[in-house]
Amino acid sequence: MIISVASGKGGTGKTTVAVNLALSLENTQFLDCDVEEPNAHIFLKPEIKERIAAFIPVPEADEAKCNACGKCREVCEYHAIAVIPKGDGAIGSVLVFPHLCHGCGACSLLCPQKAIREVNKEIGVVETGMAGDIQFVHGTLNIGEIMSPSLIRQVKKRINPFRTVIIDAPPGTSCPVIAAVKDSDYCILVTEPTPFGLNDLTLAVEVLRKLKIPFGVVINRADIGDDKVDNYCQANKIAVLLRIPFDREIARLYSRGIPLVKDNVEYKEKFRMMFETITKRHHEADRCR
Ligand code: SF4
Ligand code: SF4
Repeated sequence: MIISVASGKGGTGKTTVAVNLALSLENTQFLDCDVEEPNAHIFLKPEIKERIAAFIPVPEADEAKCNACGKCREVCEYHAIAVIPKGDGAIGSVLVFPHLCHGCGACSLLCPQKAIREVNKEIGVVETGMAGDIQFVHGTLNIGEIMSPSLIRQVKKRINPFRTVIIDAPPGTSCPVIAAVKDSDYCILVTEPTPFGLNDLTLAVEVLRKLKIPFGVVINRADIGDDKVDNYCQANKIAVLLRIPFDREIARLYSRGIPLVKDNVEYKEKFRMMFETITKRHHEADRCR
């Protein structure tokens, strides 16, 4: 079973929930897909056993074959190619902007002259290891690189189907989040009871409904703010799976990089029960399909 943990905005406690859930279960694999700022390793302290550079293929035009027809520029949805046409003394040439290229391969596939070959561009690194019994994988995007969905997909290639997989997704509701949560069996949305929390939760709910991924909500710092998140969940028949109060002890453990469940068996049980609720809902949804 693949469970992703996401949030409409950063700083809601998404990684706290993902890490503590993984530590409360048996036979888990943890994927940190928040590749722009991975920080689950601070809490899980994995022993990294393998480091593999991650690449995307970017085009390189052979000017001896290219006739500057402009087809590659036309097909590139990301404006990563410019073609200087022939004429007025210009011999015509192709300029590639590697930072805009998504490595989709359309230009090389559709070039009528077969003038484009693909070269690898490094975008980051994927590291794998063990954190106790937990299999651990995370990706780290190179600074200034924007192709996080590609790196997220490369992290997800390491999914182990024989374990319960917990994915720590990036914050927000854009392409990287979709790359992270896609194909999950269930998604936990972590929010806080504030107007910002509610606003970002509603956006995240829209995304998950479009992707047809079942989901529930964890309310962090549940005893501050107002009751609008609760009212929204009730009105939209969204399960509130867990409430975590604003607690000085939880904050103290977090600041020292200590997962909550390592110090508190009561919370370990709460996370286990949340997992049971999720598996029950998943099996019910399966039966209805
Ligand atoms: S599609 Fe091929 S031949 Fe046409 S401009 Fe691009 S690289 Fe050159
Ligand atoms: S590989 Fe895709 S994104 Fe990159 S330049 Fe070619 S068409 Fe554009």
